[in-house]
Amino acid sequence: TEKFDYLIVGAGLFGAVFAHEAALKGKRVKVIEKRDHIAGNIYTKEVDGIQVHQYGAHIFHTSDREIWDYVNQFAEFNRYTNSPVANYHGEMYNLPFNMNTFNKLWGVRTPQEAAAKIQEQRDAAKLSGQPRNLEEQAITLIGTDIYQKLIKGYTEKQWGQKATDLPAFIIRRLPVRYTYDNNYFNDTYQGIPIGGYTQIVERMLDHPNIDVETNVDFFANKDTYLANYPKVVFTGMIDQFFDYQLGELAYRSLRFETETLPVGNYQGNAVINYTDAETPYTRIIEHKHFEFGKGDADKTVITKEYPADWKRGDEPYYPVNNQENNNLYKQYAALAAQQKQIIFGGRLGQYRYYDMHQVIHAALVAVKAEFDPTK
Ligand code: FAD
Repeated sequence: TEKFDYLIVGAGLFGAVFAHEAALKGKRVKVIEKRDHIAGNIYTKEVDGIQVHQYGAHIFHTSDREIWDYVNQFAEFNRYTNSPVANYHGEMYNLPFNMNTFNKLWGVRTPQEAAAKIQEQRDAAKLSGQPRNLEEQAITLIGTDIYQKLIKGYTEKQWGQKATDLPAFIIRRLPVRYTYDNNYFNDTYQGIPIGGYTQIVERMLDHPNIDVETNVDFFANKDTYLANYPKVVFTGMIDQFFDYQLGELAYRSLRFETETLPVGNYQGNAVINYTDAETPYTRIIEHKHFEFGKGDADKTVITKEYPADWKRGDEPYYPVNNQENNNLYKQYAALAAQQKQIIFGGRLGQYRYYDMHQVIHAALVAVKAEFDPTK
């Protein structure tokens, strides 16, 4: 049988970057993926000429020139700029909170008028001392109107808990912009890969030294894998790897409902957040707007994103990085450090809410530690 130097568990961005770099160094790499496709959560699929983001809206953004150059080897990016819109009971507001938002809310026209209005609302709330929960924290930062219309319902849906039961630290700061700029990110580089994200991972894995198998779960044959591969890169859940022996880490899950509609343009924007408490989904994505209306002129594909509790067996989309879970993760990380055969990486392996640019960076750091440890 063929001999491999590395087994990579998970064909997401972390696993793919590591596999690609190892292959370039002459190593033979086996990649196993439990889903029926590669690319993890950045997976996109063409439907009616439209690139559909199968696991939620993904916008690439970074200020790191090296990461931007790195990812551009694998795809050409368009100039998409993330500028989401909020729908609160049919009232539409620009995000992030900026002069357009303040003007629509209060009729104010200048940064001075907006700042005065926010201060007036903070004062009226008469909160003093340390905020005791997320609601008090948000009102302290931004006042009641924005909290009630744009933060409360969305956050409660996202976490499945009342804002008054959520800890204040979840909102350390709120980006407030006293300009009419709707660009959500401050990063230097931003865009969507023309032709979708899947090609990025496809190209990373397209090397004679790399062998990829989908529909294969590491845990179906854990002991055999560990016996047969000198080195393993594991990008699944770290608590599952250790059989939950110290307890379960918490995650949030999501449910996506995708449909094709017989209209050319459904909502006029790629992302609309539903910030009221009653609408059960948090946002609707209209995929064609990521590529400036590409695809069929009479059709569009939309996805509703529903937040969901997580239990074993569900997809763990978000780590819940509160104190308790971070402490538990640290204990798992200490166990992981003793396993010299295994590199734990990525969003689930490191229990960190990594964005794409951060996961590429983390993978390149792991590559360096593995192949070039003295530099
Ligand atoms: P994953 O993509 O999760 O890859 C891990 C892979 O391992 C998965 O394919 C999984 O099936 C596989 N696996 C797990 N366990 C096993 C096993 N036992 N056996 C075999 N295979 C296994 N980032 C941005 O930069 N911009 C955005 O706008 C953005 N939006 C996001 C929106 C949503 C809804 C979500 C969930 C994430 C978003 N992200 C965004 C983050 C981005 O998805 C991640 O940074 C990236 O996908 C992480 O890559 P990864 O390799 O760590 O994890």
